Amino acid sequence: MAYKRNIDRLPIIPAGAKEHNVTCHYCIVGCGYKAYTWPLKTQGSTDSNWIGEDLSKQQAAETAAWYAPSMYNVVKQNGKDVHVVIKPDEPSGEFRARPDPRRADGEKLAV
Ligand code: SF4
Repeated sequence: MAYKRNIDRLPIIPAGAKEHNVTCHYCIVGCGYKAYTWPLKTQGSTDSNWIGEDLSKQQAAETAAWYAPSMYNVVKQNGKDVHVVIKPDEPSGEFRARPDPRRADGEKLAV
């Protein structure tokens, strides 16, 4: 059973967190997500974290280096309590730049 503890700030996902590919089963769209899990009472830091960013600096407006309290919880995994953060899977640069197959002139897809 999942539960959320009283916390005053979210833990930072560490560099060694397990990354799981998951799919939302709620509707037919099937959006992809990344779920990160790591042992309780451990976390990353501003200079060593899952995304390899310097989190002590202001991040760009559309950075992937953030998550909200609603995206975090504590759950049981293999009988042990772990932190879990579930984030939308980001399209890679290659996916964003692929040519639109419907266009003869090869114009890129607008994402
Ligand atoms: S996250 Fe995606 S798959 Fe899940 S309910 Fe929303 S649109 Fe449907």
